[in-house]
Amino acid sequence: MTISAASVQPAASHYVNGKYVDDPDGTPMQSLCSVTGMVIAELNAASASLIDECVVAARQAQESWAALTGTERGRILRKAADLIRERNRELSILETRDTGKPLQETLCADALSGADCLEYFGGIAATVGGETVQQGESFFYTRREPLGVCVGIGAWNYPFQIACWKAAPALACGNAMIFKPSEVTPLSALKLAEIFKEAGLPDGVFNVLQGAAATGSTLVKHPGVAKVSITGSVATGKKVATGAAETLKPVTLELGGKSPLIVFADADMDQAVAGAMLGNFYSSGQVCSNGTRVFVQRAVLEEFLQKLQPRCAAILLGNPLDEKTQMGPLVSAPQRDKVLAYIEIGKKEGARLVCGGDRAVVAGCEQGNFIQPTVFADVTDDMTIAREEIFGPVMSVLTFDTVEEVIERANNTEFGLAAGVFTSDLTTAHGVIAKLKAGTCWINTYNITPVEMPFGGMKHSGMGRENSQHAIEHYSQIKSVYVEMGKLESPY
Ligand code: NAD
Repeated sequence: MTISAASVQPAASHYVNGKYVDDPDGTPMQSLCSVTGMVIAELNAASASLIDECVVAARQAQESWAALTGTERGRILRKAADLIRERNRELSILETRDTGKPLQETLCADALSGADCLEYFGGIAATVGGETVQQGESFFYTRREPLGVCVGIGAWNYPFQIACWKAAPALACGNAMIFKPSEVTPLSALKLAEIFKEAGLPDGVFNVLQGAAATGSTLVKHPGVAKVSITGSVATGKKVATGAAETLKPVTLELGGKSPLIVFADADMDQAVAGAMLGNFYSSGQVCSNGTRVFVQRAVLEEFLQKLQPRCAAILLGNPLDEKTQMGPLVSAPQRDKVLAYIEIGKKEGARLVCGGDRAVVAGCEQGNFIQPTVFADVTDDMTIAREEIFGPVMSVLTFDTVEEVIERANNTEFGLAAGVFTSDLTTAHGVIAKLKAGTCWINTYNITPVEMPFGGMKHSGMGRENSQHAIEHYSQIKSVYVEMGKLESPY
């Protein structure tokens, strides 16, 4: 498939109260194709007055949405899941154009993950409720109630999936949502709004506003908003938590990482290599949970590198719309330059370049932001590439000797999003995992995130969990009701 110059210009920039709307007062913004650099959509950021209008519409819609039964809400979410599956190819092509991620990935990991999420939360919407506890003849019961209007703010690496991961539990609990996609990838969230409408979602329950930090910040501080869930960098997460604190809103923070992936000498080495590649090069390395600090036990270091190097060198870079392509460009020129700068720092600080280490030029996609899959060995804990999140296709391989040592070094970071352990010894696997300060962990695999499993980070990588039953706790609140069946005991 060639990259056509055809625009994917949406009918308007925003989706408010069940229809596309433009905002004459909004600041202009553009969406660029990651491969050609061409403008594929002209949009505008939401002005303060449109944000106010959207919050009012969402608040009104939320009350009647919450008054439906969970079964009725769930039916609409499951219908949306079916529509997403029917349109998976169209949605995947749009996502590939906006993000640069290869179609072979977006076809299986983006819209379909969103559909799974809507199906899951559609399925459990009817079970969201409280409990009854007897106190003699009296009793109390709890009601699990929605929060109101929730704001979702997305990053650019999984735009459609992130929108679904936030909307599905929020809507299942009877909330309304205003979603602000990343300004870098603004398009697919609008498609989700269209699909919700077709599935029968009442107008105003799911809205999309475009914009960058200023729009996000206004939404976070808005007094009509009850909760914020953001996926983004640690620096942005801190600003959002601070802004939300002004009006005491609860926040869910899905932030960055520098996760350890530990390979013990007794591991199946082919599986460990496959896991390390999956955990570093999928989506050109633009995955928050990536295991970018690969700790390999000294006895198997050279075997690991010998197996890894040719497989990395063989990764097929190309036009991301070609289904054979295994790695596409990075999302933007600024992100490409940031990653290249880290690669240069790695070289200067003395890491050994095993593979890649430069820009890649792909015939027919000369303007694309491609970087070679890059592996550094002999990385030490103090090097910049071992400490900071790069968010590109750069793997750092570190060497360790003992179990105690690797646990201590793996935990020696402000991040705590994810971790992986490769070993054939059960005691090592579970013992090490129990001591790692990370919210989402894998044994003998990496980056598998089914909707049934809670996902999220510890320490600076975030708070709260997405997916699974636990997400319900973050989009609802408990009301306790005590019912006196006897005579009221009172000293007065
Ligand atoms: P970013 O922090 O630059 O932006 C994220 C979103 O926040 C964007 O929509 C942006 O417009 C908005 N924003 C920026 N400043 C804001 C402010 N002051 N108030 C409100 N909103 C604001 O992140 P990015 O570059 O889009 O994405 C990459 C980062 O996201 C990486 O650090 C990555 O690890 C992280 N990420 C985390 C997860 C996770 O689930 N933990 C998933 C994907 C990406």
